[in-house]
Amino acid sequence: MALIVQKYGGTSVGTTDRIKNVARRVAKHKAQGHDIVVVLSAMSGETNRLIGLAKEMQVNPDPRELDVIVSTGEQVTIGLLVMALKDIGIDAISYTGAQVKILTDSAHTKARIQHIDDANMRADLSAGKVVVVAGFQGVDPDGNITTLGRGGSDTTGVALAAALKADECQIYTDVDGVYTTDPRVVPEAKKLTTITFEEMLEMASLGSKVLQIRSVEFAGKYNVKLRVLSSFQEEGEGTLITFEEDSTVEKPVISGIAFNRDEARVNVIGVPDKPGIAYQILGPVADANIDVDMIIQNVGQDGTTDFSFTVPKGELARTIKVLEGVQSHIGGQSVSGDDKICKVSIVGVGMRSHVGVASTMFRTLAEEGINIQMISTSEIKISVVLDEKYLELAVRVLHKAFGLDRTL
Ligand code: ADP
Ligand code: ASP
Ligand code: MG
Repeated sequence: MALIVQKYGGTSVGTTDRIKNVARRVAKHKAQGHDIVVVLSAMSGETNRLIGLAKEMQVNPDPRELDVIVSTGEQVTIGLLVMALKDIGIDAISYTGAQVKILTDSAHTKARIQHIDDANMRADLSAGKVVVVAGFQGVDPDGNITTLGRGGSDTTGVALAAALKADECQIYTDVDGVYTTDPRVVPEAKKLTTITFEEMLEMASLGSKVLQIRSVEFAGKYNVKLRVLSSFQEEGEGTLITFEEDSTVEKPVISGIAFNRDEARVNVIGVPDKPGIAYQILGPVADANIDVDMIIQNVGQDGTTDFSFTVPKGELARTIKVLEGVQSHIGGQSVSGDDKICKVSIVGVGMRSHVGVASTMFRTLAEEGINIQMISTSEIKISVVLDEKYLELAVRVLHKAFGLDRTL
């Protein structure tokens, strides 16, 4: 007998029939003698719909009130699942984040979990009940409803598994595991039996939506056994996220390709080439709480230099405003932005021991006539910024060039 946390994503609870299907699945595991805690997302599309409503009221919705609104999506699905479970004779109880007491900080729309009260859940499990918890939400020390950022139900699942010392956290979604790249973009993508935490963290932080990055961080930190599986298939081992590299199979140099459509480039042209200039540009951007990703400063010429960096697309207008406000002080010639870009990244621990990975990547893109606007590297990844119209093509040709295509 094991304690299992099962998280079901938006598509998996997208209709009442699908919620009934989740109930059957939970009942099956319960019948095998396991204790089950279920974490649910809102029905697919619901969180976007709620954000849309909020934006009809305020262009930039008040963060506290936005959390009040978007947290309702998950409250609906947990109630419905408990009804479906009861209807097939399984005793169950639902909890919102505040009812469990998933305590977070007060950073509305991107709160971090600080503590989870497991007393009620343990008592219910001992009484033989299935516990059904709303994902994506918590409560701050003052009792305000908070949410954990888009895709945050994954993090609720892993955090509950850590708090309850569950034997496994299963993330049920609309694909049957983690693939070499998004199978919607490259149909030849291969399912991975295992992937290391290190690689999964990179994939998630570079844009692979299949797991929210914080859920992977949490699982690594608290040693949670984490598996991604399909809610639409009865059988299958899915993908296990592991600490160890699998030494029994020869690893490809590249394990996967991630991409992100959500970044925009900011260019600051003709700034004085002197100490402190990066700080003068990026300091005000950081003060405005805008996340900066890739940064490039060109080699200076004639005492001036150009500076470029990327920010989330939704923050581009605000970033330009911030920089225009300090432009006279910095002394730059112009500030401009481009939101028609994307970032494509190759990821793999195998890169550490192989040379020529970067040149293969750049040659492959060059052969397709794709211009690289920015490059950044780390020990286990190389990212490039491209014109967004090349995204699909770039991912497809790189997938092939690094030998990741499934052979039929
Ligand atoms: P859920 O609603 O279940 O949380 P998400 O849409 O958040 O589901 O995540 C699942 C989706 O992630 C898949 O449908 C797939 O399109 C996408 N995805 C992106 N990269 C990958 C990858 N490397 N492997 C599998 N799926 C991926
Ligand atoms: N419903 C939330 C979202 O759409 C959380 C989640 O699905 O994980 O982002
Ligand atoms: Mg998700």
